[in-house]
Amino acid sequence: MRIGIGYDVHRLVVGRELVIGGVNIPFAKGLLGHSDADVLCHAVCDALLGAAGLPDIGHLFPDNDDRFKDARSLELLRDVAGRVRAEGFAIANVDAVVVAEKPKIAPFIEAIKTSLADALGIDARLVGVKATTTEGLGFIGDGLGIACHAAALLE
Ligand code: MG
Repeated sequence: MRIGIGYDVHRLVVGRELVIGGVNIPFAKGLLGHSDADVLCHAVCDALLGAAGLPDIGHLFPDNDDRFKDARSLELLRDVAGRVRAEGFAIANVDAVVVAEKPKIAPFIEAIKTSLADALGIDARLVGVKATTTEGLGFIGDGLGIACHAAALLE
C-alpha cells in the first residue's frame, strides 16, 4: 500500500468557466490558471503522483508549456492514472475535500464523483468528494479562491 496527498489553490476571477472535477459549475467567476485550473483534478493528480513516487503535476505539465494552455485537467488526471498504472499500481481509492465559500458544490458532488471515477478508471464508490467552507475566514472565506485537499491510496 502507498498513500499520497495533494493540495492545490486557484484564484477566482471573472471571465473564466468554473470547472471542478471535470464538471462545469454555473457561477459568476471561474478559476484562473494556465489550464482550466480544475483545482480538484490538480490535487488528485498530486496525491496519485506522490503515492507512486512520481514527479508532481507542475513537473509533468509545466504552466509555461503551450501544450497545456487551457488543457482540460480531467484529461491530465486520466494521463496521471495511466502513469500510475504503468508503475504497476492499482488505485485503491481517492478522497478529496473542496474548500470554497461559494458556490455550493453539494449539488454537483455525484456528477463530480462520476467524472473523476471515469478519468481514474475505477468505480465511483472508490471516489470520495466532500465540500466545505471556511466559515467566512481567510482568502477562501473572502471568495478570492478555491482550495482542494486530496488523498490517494495505491496498492
Ligand atoms: Mg493547480
